[in-house]
Amino acid sequence: MRIEELPSPCYVIDEGLLEKNLKILNGVMERTGSKILLAQKAFSMFKMYPLIGKYLSGATASGLYEARLGHEEMGKENHIFSPVYREDEIDEIISICDHIVFNSFSQLEKFKDKALAAGRSVGLRINPECSTQVSHAIYDPCTPGSRFGVTIANFRQDLLDGVSGLHFHTLCQQNSNDLETTLMAVEEKFGPWLSQMKWINFGGGHYITEEDYNIQLLENCIKRMKDKYGLKVYLEPGEAVAYNAGYLVTTVLDTLQNGIDIAILDTSATCHMPDVLEMPYRPPLLGSGAAGEKSFLYRLGGQTCLTGDTIGDYSFDQPLKSGDRLVFENMAVYTMVKNTSFNGMPLPAIVVLDQAGEYHIVREFDYKDFKMRLS
Ligand SMILES: *Cc1c(COP(=O)(O)O)cnc(C)c1O
Repeated sequence: MRIEELPSPCYVIDEGLLEKNLKILNGVMERTGSKILLAQKAFSMFKMYPLIGKYLSGATASGLYEARLGHEEMGKENHIFSPVYREDEIDEIISICDHIVFNSFSQLEKFKDKALAAGRSVGLRINPECSTQVSHAIYDPCTPGSRFGVTIANFRQDLLDGVSGLHFHTLCQQNSNDLETTLMAVEEKFGPWLSQMKWINFGGGHYITEEDYNIQLLENCIKRMKDKYGLKVYLEPGEAVAYNAGYLVTTVLDTLQNGIDIAILDTSATCHMPDVLEMPYRPPLLGSGAAGEKSFLYRLGGQTCLTGDTIGDYSFDQPLKSGDRLVFENMAVYTMVKNTSFNGMPLPAIVVLDQAGEYHIVREFDYKDFKMRLS
């Protein structure tokens, strides 16, 4: 099967590129004795969990359903952090998660005994109040008034009984110098309690598989926490696991003019790549250039009625015409886990490109998937 023959739109996950990332992450684990978990919220394509489980220590979840998926499909270490747990789900969470991280002392007090009685490792999320990013405020858990993690002003040394790990998550697409800065804040504020813990979880947002990432500095940070406090170190990247390992294959359905040439695609930013609008960012598109770089400029728009459903302005060597295939890059993470059928948009099929260069359609969606969630 060739790319022209795939259903459009479809997400294509490139197994070779995914494995390349996994080998980089596994290298960090091997050299430092740390453990790396898949943060499923970025990438929950469970078809790939056996491959991911070959290289990583397990998975982490944002809630019960992701925890179940990790338990059923990966079956290795299964961690969970949620800003709050419900009474009616905590028993099931305790039955399938080996590490349970609480966001507050009240949640800890409410559920810790149950978790400990089941032999689970209990952690507490701390908030080091150290913002190291300015560009994506909605992804900054250290922003003032954030609901994430216990700040030092609200820390209760007297309630630490049974807590064996501290967890922080403050980064988003960031390099290890920001981790180093954050660790200094963690040590400065929470240092007195670190050596009474068994583990520390550095959260996600480490851009480890990105070209410019300083892996050596990450490894120094891990070793420092290990040597100074005797801690086992966990990392739980989402994006770095499948960074640049997938595509969204789309088709031009029409072109029109309104001061600028416009192409309407059989996809949608808001439905199929929501972070394009939320973050926001301009996804790379194979064979295209920035505005002004190539001769023919188009604004690429989605199929929905939302005016802002545009992907960006791109230039091409040839004019676009209906039927042309356009392939967006870096579409594995935060895409299929976040897509919606707003406007009754069909969901993209899911395809694997294996290491031999063969495409396999692993999932297709239809009208039933739209109707099923409504009544
Ligand atoms: C989002 C999140 C992650 C993963 O973040 P990435 O930016 O995808 O690496 C890990 N842990 C927690 C607690 C998160 O909220």
